[in-house]
Amino acid sequence: MSTELDLSRRSASAAPATPVNLAGLGIERLRTRLAEIGIEPRKVKMRANQVSRWIYHYGVTNFDEMTDIAKDMRAKLAADHVLERPQIVEHKVSVDGTQKWLTRYGPNVEGESVYIPDVGKSGALCVSSQVGCTLNCTFCHTGTQKLVRNLTAQEIVSQVLIARDALGEWPTSNEDRKLTNIVFMGMGEPLYNLDNVVEAIDTLNDPEGLSIGRRRITVSTAGVAPKIPELGARTNAMLAISLHAVRDDLRNEIVPINKKYDLKTLFEAIRAYPEIGNSRRVTFEYVMLKGVNDSMAEARDLVRLLKGVPAKINLIPFNPWPGSPYKCSDWETIETFAEVLNRAGYASPIRTPRGRDIFAACGQLRSESVKERASDKLKARLAQSESAAE
Ligand code: SF4
Repeated sequence: MSTELDLSRRSASAAPATPVNLAGLGIERLRTRLAEIGIEPRKVKMRANQVSRWIYHYGVTNFDEMTDIAKDMRAKLAADHVLERPQIVEHKVSVDGTQKWLTRYGPNVEGESVYIPDVGKSGALCVSSQVGCTLNCTFCHTGTQKLVRNLTAQEIVSQVLIARDALGEWPTSNEDRKLTNIVFMGMGEPLYNLDNVVEAIDTLNDPEGLSIGRRRITVSTAGVAPKIPELGARTNAMLAISLHAVRDDLRNEIVPINKKYDLKTLFEAIRAYPEIGNSRRVTFEYVMLKGVNDSMAEARDLVRLLKGVPAKINLIPFNPWPGSPYKCSDWETIETFAEVLNRAGYASPIRTPRGRDIFAACGQLRSESVKERASDKLKARLAQSESAAE
């Protein structure tokens, strides 16, 4: 008689010392895991789909809730696995409905994500792809925090699970979702963590996963030009560019990666992005810095720069943070700047600052995590062994 669990096939790696967390894993990893614990090969695909649906459509955190899976298999899953979210260190809700989570991914590795209501059809989650950042955009608070590490695909997806938990979005229905859009505009440069971002997007988009359309997923880059075509080819996600200046000399200062990939190189990569012009627009983020990048001449130069690129320009009133060197442009200046763009045929909404009271607004994210240096680890080990010897 054939049983579904063929334990003779169990590999040595199937008995982990610590349980494996399945929440946040994509379908391929779930299949691999089920095969490793001895699920019959011909049933692996079907069982992985079932488990995936329970995780991503119902948000379950307990294997007993997976009622269409046989009891012995549920027990087997529960023995070696968990369905956990990373620890939430802090959850703040703004007066305007914006929500921010500070999440711990490991010792000294904490990152932020922000839910913004009223974006897209109903609301967007701004996810982080790294803790800290290697780029030092001068208007951005995250830029003052050194890179701690890349987040894994599982850690990126877990930010969406945490938001869905808080929004009460289980079971997921395709209608009336509060969280409809994902934007990779939190901490970090997504194109410097492309493999994990691609894997996370696959899970977000998978019908057995979180089932969020690729046109509702936007990846924003400060301008890592050589990786832009690869992003398009591997994800087909919407592209956003953190632009902020229209001349190389100024952009070198505000977005220093411009020294490596100047505006000409960046726009060549943007024009080559798949399906641009085919009902797809590129979103350009432009932070309004008083007396720095907000003149009418710059608005006109921006129109010239965008020629031939179907574009939407989000004008972002600068959100101050402690020690920030800039002031926000006057409201009148922002409106006149927007008018120049509008007259040239570009949608250029002025982004209402959201979540300023909880430091969740654009450019304000930062955590206290610092990368532990090898010398610090050594010191900690020495201190430990000294105190053990006493
Ligand atoms: S804007 Fe983005 S790329 Fe630039 S420092 Fe901030 S997080 Fe990094």
